[in-house]
Amino acid sequence: MITLKNQREIELIGRACQILKDAFQEVSPLMVPGTRAEDIDRAVEKAIRLRGGRPAFKGFIGVEPDSPFPASVCLSIGAEVVHGIPDGRVLQAGEIVGLDIGVEYQGYYGDAARTYLIGPVPEEAKRLVRVTLESLELGIDQARKGRRVSDISHAIQSHVERQGFSVVRELTGHGIGKSLHEDPQIPNFGGAGRGPKLQPGMVLAIEPMINMGGKDVVTLEDGWTIVTSDNLPSAHWEETVVVTDSDPLILTR
Ligand code: MG
Repeated sequence: MITLKNQREIELIGRACQILKDAFQEVSPLMVPGTRAEDIDRAVEKAIRLRGGRPAFKGFIGVEPDSPFPASVCLSIGAEVVHGIPDGRVLQAGEIVGLDIGVEYQGYYGDAARTYLIGPVPEEAKRLVRVTLESLELGIDQARKGRRVSDISHAIQSHVERQGFSVVRELTGHGIGKSLHEDPQIPNFGGAGRGPKLQPGMVLAIEPMINMGGKDVVTLEDGWTIVTSDNLPSAHWEETVVVTDSDPLILTR
């Protein structure tokens, strides 16, 4: 069931998103060669808690009930698509690294992801990151009253495939608000004009996950990390967006 959020709820989601933005701003300088992934995780957690928020991913129960997500951020390097676990690995020049952060504030949630270029990065990887962000922009532009969920999906897929990249099928964007993941699911592929009609008060986490090579992915033994089957790089961008009476309102930017 899709729930519409009132003004007060959107304000609280906005506060969670403000904390999220602050956390990104604080750790961006760490997204350089030589930083240990777990130090980024620690810095994000501190930034969130200092502002009265809670890292929403920490302890999140996924497919395996016995292994909740162990960190505050998902940090996905190179061929890792999403849900990478920040550990003792050190960021290397030439890598692209996705950083996905979720924040809960007074019972309301925000969710966003960015992909960082670590030092000088090969041209094709740079293009992948750019096209992923462009597809997100095009998707967000469809988050308007009267359009349908799959208009977002279609805008993302069309752009990505025109550029010769591929869209991950197994993971989707989602509604957000009183839970981290709410209805509707927002696939990053599909024909236009299908699915629920968008209405003011819907809050959506739109998040293209785009592969340089084929669309297929596999989950690693840790039960979390999702990687491309062909081991080519993948990029991820996400914003939390409110459907309004006029333009989409991006709370995480
Ligand atoms: Mg999300």
